[in-house]
Amino acid sequence: MRCVNLLSFGDIFPQKTKSFISGMSHKNVQSLDQIVSLCKARGFIFQSSDIYGGLSAVYDYGPLGVELKRNIMNAWWRAMTQEHSNIVGVDAAIFMHPRVWEASGHVEGFNDPMIDDKQSKKRYRADMLIEQHILKLQEKGKGDPAKEAHAAEVQRLLDTAGTRKGMCEDLYEIIMEEEIHAPESGAFDWTEVRQFNLMFKTHYGATSQSDEDAIYLRPETAQGIFVNYKNVLDSARVQVPFGIAQIGKAFRNEVVARQFVFRMREFEQMEMQYFVEPGSDEAHYEQWLEKRMAWHRSIGIREEHLRVAPHPEDKLAHYARAAADIQYKFPIGWQEVEGVHNRTDFDLSRHQEYSGKKLEYFDQKAQKRYVPYVIETSVGLDRTTLMVLSDAYREEDVDGEQRTVLNIHPMLAPMKVGIFPLVKKPELQELAQKIETDLRRSHRVMYDEAGSIGKRYRRQDEAGTPFCITVDFDGLDDQTVTIRYRDDMRQERVSVDQIAGLIDSKMSF
Ligand code: ATP
Repeated sequence: MRCVNLLSFGDIFPQKTKSFISGMSHKNVQSLDQIVSLCKARGFIFQSSDIYGGLSAVYDYGPLGVELKRNIMNAWWRAMTQEHSNIVGVDAAIFMHPRVWEASGHVEGFNDPMIDDKQSKKRYRADMLIEQHILKLQEKGKGDPAKEAHAAEVQRLLDTAGTRKGMCEDLYEIIMEEEIHAPESGAFDWTEVRQFNLMFKTHYGATSQSDEDAIYLRPETAQGIFVNYKNVLDSARVQVPFGIAQIGKAFRNEVVARQFVFRMREFEQMEMQYFVEPGSDEAHYEQWLEKRMAWHRSIGIREEHLRVAPHPEDKLAHYARAAADIQYKFPIGWQEVEGVHNRTDFDLSRHQEYSGKKLEYFDQKAQKRYVPYVIETSVGLDRTTLMVLSDAYREEDVDGEQRTVLNIHPMLAPMKVGIFPLVKKPELQELAQKIETDLRRSHRVMYDEAGSIGKRYRRQDEAGTPFCITVDFDGLDDQTVTIRYRDDMRQERVSVDQIAGLIDSKMSF
């Protein structure tokens, strides 16, 4: 979401940083394309239905990607449920009763303002067209006070769109006033701005084709939690404050769906709804915002690439009392990775009204009834994966040679250990395979005997594997191996029976 009022912010990516290792310098990620190519080449993420030309804004995770994504998912699940005695999980179905989406406001209000270029027939999100335009004005106007003031004025108009005539009318007026041309055709030949519902509709049941039986693919996982609130309350012996966590797919027919896995039409969310007593909501909201920022740092994301952007009060969603985005400095700029919202009692009250079922909580101690307020933390799993990859990506010059390396936190790394016999000799292979079998019991490992040791190290660096073990002839005599660390390429000699303990000691957040 678009935001102002930044609480904290970091500087831009350093272009080239001297490492503490002599003869080595590194560059962080410069563009999304670097991540996209690495993901395809190394099997992290592929375009969906690639052999048919691809399906836009839908992606598949490959062998390394699925491991990374699961590790992130497990880290979140553990932090939210295992580490909180009062948070339980659910796994609700994607299909839900159509009335759910009427109650939640999605049928009526889950819209994006869009505008069509009559010449190319391409559709754009009106607010994003204006945002792009502002970025250009800001770039061109640097150092010229009149131009800077103009860019700031357009930003103000965008921020207050919807307060003059209506959202669509205000956005249309800005596009006309600013003479914003279509990015692809260059034409200035627009339709009106219209609202476009983002929910995917389908038909439920074999015989049904009518709109009355329409059913939606859920656009967020949160509603699956709200409709199960009473089931959980009645079965799980929880007391307010308590939370319900869920990880699952969500679907949005996004108008602008580019930028790789940042904005997809099918994606995954990790959401937690925390039910609290009204009046305690503000304190809980602040606590969750802090906790969620701490989680992002704990998984290894650099502090200077994270910031909190609170939503201005006049821009809050209809149900929210306070909201903030946790933003990450992606190669495409600062963007939301997670939303933390104070949803008040909006959702439970609406479901109470639409279902006719009481969703109140009876507070035994205080002997009073109320509909709890909800603090929501909602983070995109795919966006988090992209954030982890972007933050970890480095291109390094090591004494004149280039290596690409992913400095992923060991707990998230798809493969934990690469195991290599120095050469393809049975006695080395035998010891290497024994080490592999031992480690495989508790870690994802990769045995590799193809190519020079240097090449094998590079392959593991690109996969983000934090440790590599090489078995050589000396090791056959004294049962030692060389362990090489991905980040600083340090190598040390350790005995075979120390390997598991050494690796385990690095496996915590
Ligand atoms: P944006 O403003 O970027 O569209 P949003 O404010 O609509 O996001 P929420 O509805 O708050 O997003 O959803 C919570 C999280 O789900 C987001 O922070 C993001 O990480 C993820 N998410 C939302 N839409 C998408 C999408 N189309 N593709 C991938 N992830 C998404």
